Amino acid sequence: MRNFGYQRAASVDQAVKAHAGQQASFVAGGTTLLDLVKLDVMRPERIVDINPLPLKQVERLSDGRLKIGAMVSNADLAWHPTVKQDYAVLSEALLAGASTSLRNKATTGGNVMQRVRCPYFRDGISPCNKREPGSGCSAIGGVNRSVHAVLGTSDHCIASHPSDMCVAMAAIGARILVDGPKGKREIDFLDFHLLPGNSPEKEHALGTDEIITHVVLDAPIAGSKSHYLKLRDRASYQFALASSAVIVATSGGTIQQARIALGGVGTKPWRAKEAEQSLIGQAPTQENFERAARIAFEGAQPQSQNAFKIPLGQQAIVRSLLTVTV
Ligand SMILES: Cc1cc2nc3c(=O)[nH]c(=O)nc-3n(C[C@H](O)[C@H](O)[C@H](O)COP(=O)(O)OP(=O)(O)OC[C@H]3O[C@@H](n4cnc5c(N)ncnc54)[C@H](O)[C@@H]3O)c2cc1C
Ligand code: SF4
Repeated sequence: MRNFGYQRAASVDQAVKAHAGQQASFVAGGTTLLDLVKLDVMRPERIVDINPLPLKQVERLSDGRLKIGAMVSNADLAWHPTVKQDYAVLSEALLAGASTSLRNKATTGGNVMQRVRCPYFRDGISPCNKREPGSGCSAIGGVNRSVHAVLGTSDHCIASHPSDMCVAMAAIGARILVDGPKGKREIDFLDFHLLPGNSPEKEHALGTDEIITHVVLDAPIAGSKSHYLKLRDRASYQFALASSAVIVATSGGTIQQARIALGGVGTKPWRAKEAEQSLIGQAPTQENFERAARIAFEGAQPQSQNAFKIPLGQQAIVRSLLTVTV
């Protein structure tokens, strides 16, 4: 284990200041960070503990949106009465993630910022452009069956984004509120996670020393139903091979609004906007859902071992759309 400094921050301002000037990491639940420090993959010189920050509230805003503090645990968020009632897709996604004890520790901000599960990234020695830019990608042509993507990949990185919570948030629509040395700002949720392109080490839109303070969910779509479906090798305690978050509002036998986001198959939480558009004004039939699912995977690029994710992801979309419309 390498030595590192440790500082507990009592305010957001203190946290930002403590983070500045050296290679520092915030620690929230610690379920990603401490894992990667022990594996020698992340090597912070200082850890800034943000557990004392007053960011543990979930509050309804006057315009109907929901403001979630970055330190709200995944368990508290999943079981929050408003989330269960108005954002079932988010509650289901959170409860499909990790285990009870992990969800009690893991936080909203930490989940947004969690790192990829690619074994080459985590082993600390294999060539990996995300861990060591320019070293190569061991997963391309290597083991790439379960935690590697078919959408949004590049020649430099193919790791899938691991979060379940973020897939639901991508479907709902959200803003990420951040604070930092230059003050507060907001980032659209869909712009927060970055495609790997030729710089996979740059994973998100957070600036130097910025901290996530809240996630604000869009107001729920009136009259909609939602569902999160996670397909995986084991029934629990496993990352998604493919997952689908859908929100649909129908009226008079046709679809008025549709949201579709995918997990396990994309290098970021994947919103399938063209597939959504194909459903507007259509009847909620299996045939239309299958067409939308095909559109969602147009341009998908399978790797040597994960081509099965294309039909699997398409089935996830169809099944979750059927669940909310029959
Ligand atoms: C065995 C195991 C199984 C898992 N299974 C799943 C699963 O099925 N689905 C799933 O979605 N997840 C899964 N996870 C991941 C888990 O959800 C994440 O580890 C967790 O959400 C991270 O939250 P945390 O509060 O512990 O973050 P930490 O570990 O404290 O931090 C993670 C990263 O976020 C940064 N960070 C934390 N808070 C902030 C903030 N407010 N602002 C800016 N940066 C911040 C940290 O610096 C660090 O880089 C699993 C984890 C483990 C260990
Ligand atoms: S897929 Fe990404 S994280 Fe995995 S080895 Fe390649 S560059 Fe590294």
